[in-house]
Amino acid sequence: MKLPINYDKSHWTTRREARLQYISDQNNICIHCGSSLDRDPSEEVNKMKINKNLFPKGMFDYPIHLHHDRTTGMSIGAVHAKCNAVLWQYHGE
Ligand SMILES: [Zn+2]
Repeated sequence: MKLPINYDKSHWTTRREARLQYISDQNNICIHCGSSLDRDPSEEVNKMKINKNLFPKGMFDYPIHLHHDRTTGMSIGAVHAKCNAVLWQYHGE
């Protein structure tokens, strides 16, 4: 499929397809922390405290997330769930 996609306007099946393609295009490496998406995030990310109240219930049910730009809605790449939370909580992304 053609990337990026508009995350906000896409059905969950399209989001899933995009996520899988990013994982493949990124050779299974998280674009935020650089660790394998099959494993835990980098130690630096792992150490960061996450305020779970900021996130919707179920946010951490899936280990790999499709990161997207919250202004444009466009997808950016595949990241660990924890990395996605760090991007939001600490970087406003
Ligand atoms: Zn990561």
